[in-house]
Formats: sequence, C-alpha cells, structure tokens
Amino acid sequence: MVHESFQTVKGQIHWDHPMYKLYEKAKRNGKWNPADIDFSQDREDYNNLHPDERIAILPLISSFSAGEEAVTLDILPMVQAMARQGRLEDTMFLTTFVHDEAKHTELFSRWQQAVGVGDMDLSVFHSDSYKRIFYEELPAAMDRLNTDDSPEAVIRAATVYNMIVEGVLAESGYYSFRQVFKKAGLFPGILQGIDYLNMDEGRHIQFGIYTIQRLVVGSAANYKIFNDYMDELWEHAFGIVEYLTSLAEEQRKQAAFQSSLEFDPDMMKEYAVKQFHIRKSKVDRVKRYQSLSELEAAVTGDI
Ligand code: FE
Ligand code: FE
Repeated sequence: MVHESFQTVKGQIHWDHPMYKLYEKAKRNGKWNPADIDFSQDREDYNNLHPDERIAILPLISSFSAGEEAVTLDILPMVQAMARQGRLEDTMFLTTFVHDEAKHTELFSRWQQAVGVGDMDLSVFHSDSYKRIFYEELPAAMDRLNTDDSPEAVIRAATVYNMIVEGVLAESGYYSFRQVFKKAGLFPGILQGIDYLNMDEGRHIQFGIYTIQRLVVGSAANYKIFNDYMDELWEHAFGIVEYLTSLAEEQRKQAAFQSSLEFDPDMMKEYAVKQFHIRKSKVDRVKRYQSLSELEAAVTGDI
C-alpha cells in the first residue's frame, strides 16, 4: 500500500467529525488507571463470603476477564481497516479504544489477583454459547478485516464486537454486577472499575452504531446484513445469559444456607433482551436520514 495524499496537509482534521468528537471525549473521560483502584476491601469481602458464594461469582468474573482479553486481542484489524480506508478521525478515536480495552483486561486480572483467585482456571465456566461468540465468531469477523474491508465485512465485525459483545453482553454484565454486589454492599473496588468501564463502553458502542449506520444509510442490502447477523448471534448471546443465570440459580438451590447475595434471574434475562432491542432500534433510526451528511450531523449532535 502507498499513500496518495495526507489529509492534514491538504486541509485539516475534520474537527466536527463525529469520530473526532468521540476521540476528544475519550481523552477527557478516559483518564483512569486500574492500578490506582484499591481492592483491599474487595479482598476482605471475598474472604468473608461462604465458599459456595465465592464459587457463585466466579462464572461472571471468568466471562468478563476472557471477554475483555478477547476484545483487546481482536480490535486491531478494525483499526487497520479504518486506516487503510483513510478514515483519519475514526483511526484517531480507535487509538483510545485499544488503550481502553487493555485497561479493562488489566482491571479484572488485577482483581482476580487481589482476591486470591489469580491462579485458578476459570475457563471451566465458559459454555458452548460463550465459546461460539468469544472463541469463534468474534475473532473470525475481526480477522476477516485483515484481507476484506468491504461494507459487509465491516458491518459484521461491528455487529458482533460492538453490538452483541459490548452492547448486549457487557452491558448486561454490568447490570448483574450492580444488582448483586451493590445491593449487598460488597466489592467497592471492582464496582468503581465497572463504572469507569461502563463509561468507556458507551463510547465504543457509539463507534459501532455510527460505523454500521453510515454503511446502512440508503442501503437495504446492508441493513439486511446487520439485521440477519444480529438475529443469528442472538441465540448464542442469550445462551450465555441463560447459562450464567441457571448456574447461579442451581448453586443457590443447593446452598445449605441463606445467601446475602440477592439475584433475580428473570430480571437479568429481561435486561439482556431489552439491550438487544435497543441496539437494533439505534440502527433502525438510520431510516430517518436521507444522506450520510444528515446522519453525521445528527450523530455529532449526540456526542
Ligand atoms: Fe472493554
Ligand atoms: Fe469495549
């Protein structure tokens, strides 16, 4: 590949570009360091739990840890695809995205070490649905961008990465964390980390929505690619949520004591369903816009 020209010497960075705005937002709001979070109370809380309760929280931790690692390892082809297409503002934003995911991976690994499960093999908690999304669909869709940055390839990558993994699974995971641990007054350190993570993920999802929307504007065929892939992935995404909730329910039934950890499986499942529909409706909104410039003006307004 050779460069035909450079944007910054023929004109400027497009300061009003939605992805440039998002880059500015990332620089402002993304300034947190997982190494600064104090996990000493988390360690004490973990040690004070009944052994059955300790086991019960590990599947969620295992899902988050491997999930953040997967998105850290798999994001680079998206950066390269946007760079290849000369999308300077998108590429600039994505530099912050890569850094965010590295910090998310660090956060969970540090927590595991702090509470004393750092050497445990938590991969036993990965269900077939989990493996389908994180071991197979995500890396395959992202790897395809190395050799193919067609609209179809970009839409599929953003659909599994930003809409399903981040928009449905991570969002539902934060919700479960808060539902269970905030109410019980446990784990202030990881809950603080989750708040930061949540803010970062908001930007990541905005990138995904914008990326899919701009390719779907005026293209029924591209909309179909998005919508069909969402439906195809839903079965596995919901399978992950079902597995995690059923595991927790089973553990609760078997426990010979009254746990202080309250958890409502139906509420968790409903939340995931709601997230799925919200993601779809965000892309549906594109039907309101006649052109890319109209869409970009609206997205910039939202950021
Ligand atoms: Fe993340
Ligand atoms: Fe993310």
